Amino acid sequence: MTTKRDYYEILGIQKNASKDEIKKAYRKQALKFHPDKNPGDKGAEEKFKEAAEAYEVLSNDEKRSRYDRFGHAGMGNAGSSYGGHDMTVEDIFSSFGDIFGDAFGFGGFSGGRQGRRVNKGSNLRVKVKLDLGEIASGCEKKIKVNKYSTCETCGGTGAADAKSFSNCSTCHGSGHVTRVTNTLLGQMQSTSVCPSCGGEGKTITKKCQTCYGEGIIEKEEIIKINIPAGVGKGMQMTVAGKGNAARRGGVNGDLLVVIDEEEHEELLREGNDLIYNLFISIPDAITGTQVEVPTVDGSVKIKIEPGTQPGRILRLRGKGLPEVNGYGRGDLLVNVNVWIPKSLGREEMKIIEKLKDSESFVPKPDKNDKGFFERMRSYFQ
Ligand SMILES: [Zn+2]
Ligand SMILES: [Zn+2]
Repeated sequence: MTTKRDYYEILGIQKNASKDEIKKAYRKQALKFHPDKNPGDKGAEEKFKEAAEAYEVLSNDEKRSRYDRFGHAGMGNAGSSYGGHDMTVEDIFSSFGDIFGDAFGFGGFSGGRQGRRVNKGSNLRVKVKLDLGEIASGCEKKIKVNKYSTCETCGGTGAADAKSFSNCSTCHGSGHVTRVTNTLLGQMQSTSVCPSCGGEGKTITKKCQTCYGEGIIEKEEIIKINIPAGVGKGMQMTVAGKGNAARRGGVNGDLLVVIDEEEHEELLREGNDLIYNLFISIPDAITGTQVEVPTVDGSVKIKIEPGTQPGRILRLRGKGLPEVNGYGRGDLLVNVNVWIPKSLGREEMKIIEKLKDSESFVPKPDKNDKGFFERMRSYFQ
């Protein structure tokens, strides 16, 4: 998490600022860092978003009082219903656009926006099941999704051809309507998006025959996604712009990829650590041996020391799963069991009977057996 600046400081106001002062302060900041005034300036865009987030919280009595009492910690994950800096410039316009309203005089903003409503396609959600090997190394997945895509016949306009448009009769092509009202203070002029054409300024006279004027068609698409190493069950990734296309040339929705995990036959996952349950024979436990244990990328040989007790946990550092978007890897914990045969032949039984009287076979437990405590702790975690 990055550290966040104080909302009052962002807007340059006092803690006891009135609602009106907050609004004015936000407007000042928003106009200063407005994307149209600072094209291509990422720093300005960040400041623009930062101010919107501060305003979103401070303009709401309930959120403001929570923020006053608990600071950013009181704002949950993000301090904003939009998820903090995930708020896009488009979101800000659709939420607070009315604040700028008359700031630029007639027509709101310059450039392509002109107060036009931006259609946004809906988000799509898919589940992807990965095995431990794929999780360990990260992978590329191709997902087949049924979704709305931009109609190729009309390029998303919804019109049969370039001549199939006429200017909207309500707004005469400007995309907005101006209303003049008489008040005590004189004439007030307000501008809003044209209700007939939704701000497009045009209406279609002849619709595209492929999409029937919608600008989108339903079709199957194969989407390639790169999944980073170390992801886990339930994690969600957002692939921006790969969701449903919007009607008539809007902004695409996002593709939300939810991770699911296939169970491994031999390895159990616990966070970034992996656990393997190893069985060795009584003679091997006594004399020591070398065994192979599976890992996410092939098996490794490990040495079992003579006299290894069952319940001993061997830690193979770095043989677990990588940290997602981070550094380091978890470990592979090998839980050593000694296999006790359930039935023996006569000869075998005789040998064992003989060992019963042997001094070496009398238990001499180590009171400080760390392996035992480690095992018990991991059970009750
Ligand atoms: Zn219109
Ligand atoms: Zn079309």
